[in-house]
Amino acid sequence: MPKLHVRKGDTVKVLSGKDAGATGEVLRALPQQGRVVVKGVAIVKKSVRPSQNNPRGGIIQKEAPIAAARVQLICPECKKPTRVNHKVTEAGKKVRVCKKCGHEF
Ligand SMILES: [Zn+2]
Repeated sequence: MPKLHVRKGDTVKVLSGKDAGATGEVLRALPQQGRVVVKGVAIVKKSVRPSQNNPRGGIIQKEAPIAAARVQLICPECKKPTRVNHKVTEAGKKVRVCKKCGHEF
């Protein structure tokens, strides 16, 4: 299965496109498509038909998935866009290690 460098709940920075420079939380990771959905990024307006949940229908705003290659992970510790090393702890847990500050998460 393909893997992404980011996962749900991560904070990422958008590198390119119209939302370049924006940061947001990863709402969904779509490894199969190599895409991620980032909160507040790539908002698209979508018209929806009336349904049970939304009896009036209308236009909703929704984040569209963007290519994962367009985002960079932000370290929760040093708050900088970073790359990570992967490491397995003694307890057998997989963690990521910030290359800049060494923070494990
Ligand atoms: Zn860091």
